[in-house]
Amino acid sequence: MSCFNHKADYFCVFFIKIFTMKNLYTKNNLLNQLPDITTEKIFVENEINPARCAFDKSKITALENTKTIIYLMNRNYRVEDNFALNYALELSKKFSCRLIVLIFFEKKVLIKKKEIFLKKNFEILKTNLKLNNIDYIFIKGKIKDIKIELESKNPTIVISDFNPLLNTSLFAKCNFLEIDSFNIVPAFYVIEKQSYNAASFRRAIYKKINPFLTEFPKIKFKKNKSYSLLKKFLNQKLANYAKYKNNPNYDVLSELSPYISNGFISSQRITLEVLKAKGTKENKESFLEELIIRKELADNFCYYNKNYKNIISCPNWAKNSLQEHKNDFRILYKIEELENAKTNDNLWNASQLQLKKEGKIHGYLRMYWAKQIAKWSINAQEAIEKAIYLNDKYALDAPSCNGYTNILWSIGGLHDRPFLDRPVTGKIRTMTYNGAKSKFNVEEYIKKYT
Ligand SMILES: Cc1cc2nc3c(=O)[nH]c(=O)nc-3n(C[C@H](O)[C@H](O)[C@H](O)COP(=O)(O)OP(=O)(O)OC[C@H]3O[C@@H](n4cnc5c(N)ncnc54)[C@H](O)[C@@H]3O)c2cc1C
Repeated sequence: MSCFNHKADYFCVFFIKIFTMKNLYTKNNLLNQLPDITTEKIFVENEINPARCAFDKSKITALENTKTIIYLMNRNYRVEDNFALNYALELSKKFSCRLIVLIFFEKKVLIKKKEIFLKKNFEILKTNLKLNNIDYIFIKGKIKDIKIELESKNPTIVISDFNPLLNTSLFAKCNFLEIDSFNIVPAFYVIEKQSYNAASFRRAIYKKINPFLTEFPKIKFKKNKSYSLLKKFLNQKLANYAKYKNNPNYDVLSELSPYISNGFISSQRITLEVLKAKGTKENKESFLEELIIRKELADNFCYYNKNYKNIISCPNWAKNSLQEHKNDFRILYKIEELENAKTNDNLWNASQLQLKKEGKIHGYLRMYWAKQIAKWSINAQEAIEKAIYLNDKYALDAPSCNGYTNILWSIGGLHDRPFLDRPVTGKIRTMTYNGAKSKFNVEEYIKKYT
């Protein structure tokens, strides 16, 4: 009898385990939270979901005397797949007033490669605005120039891209209304505070993403290069993404970040195309983890924490551990030595040379690149500043929330947990030359870029 009971208990536990594992798998999977757009008809969001607006949309009624509406395009530089532009167009039609798109790009000294990249894509943007008979003004300047322009136009309403890196305090007196068209789940809606780590953020996204994955209303537009990169990714790279995404010698990454970070393509559009494409769940899940969870987590961080360029915003365990190692011996490189790839680490030099030559470093090596800078600096803050300087100057996808968040992740343990204590970098997760060697053919990569 007792034996029977024991067996029954055993089977009971066994089935409960299988059931919870299945449930856990279903829950711990982004694809399962999204509509199956290959079988379900996808909802077209002709009228914007109010949750995408950082203001109360129902209060926008008294516009009878309005002559001009401004849409301040400062992050999503595109006419297609852009809820903020759609909403500005909707209001201008409803109240029969003029819409002017103020394209704002902060003026700074740019390296040639970056200038050419941006110029090309801004030209396409201007063509697309003309194609849709939308008036625009292009301002390449300082943020105060927007204020001057706004005062001269005296609009009743300014619709703006949601942008955690834009200091909006200057516009406090305007009717300044932000719409998040950069994230699928709006940053101010998904979670009301800074997320502690990717796991807690993932849970929040899983709960809320489904109603936001909608199709955009159609608009005429000429495609920039990101659309052919996306096609190539879906046809040739997605099949090997999960297996080789951390191997710099395999060409499986999408290369879309310069277009995503500069708003030349919408990540919601990319997600829709990934879901429609042929491919295994494993590959799609792995790609969407980066495109949605990691990318939107970066916006969460920079939105709720204005010290996004500073070590003070990193977790206490990391700061305490770095403090304990502040007097450890280290090799110090000057910024010029780093910039010119003159260190004693030929893998690091090769990645710095790739950055200068191509405006990017492979995602896996980018972590290595930042983590070595931490080992060669007087303290973490100095390392952060050097990494930001180099990344913002040379990377085509910078400056961006992704850049600041990942630099703090690499150097300051942001969103991460403590690891084994080591000299200089303490309990921050480390990456070593030998570790890299065990993961991929380091020599092959070095030869390519040196
Ligand atoms: C030190 C350091 C600096 C970085 N700086 C930037 C930056 O300035 N701009 C930037 O966009 N990304 C940055 N990243 C994140 C990541 O390296 C790039 O997004 C990725 O390498 C871009 O290549 P891809 O588009 O081919 O990537 P894919 O692997 O094809 O990924 C698709 C998209 O997912 C998003 N993504 C991928 N990895 C990450 C990540 N770790 N965090 C957030 N989003 C991610 C990006 O939007 C990317 O375009 C940085 C990472 C590190 C470690």
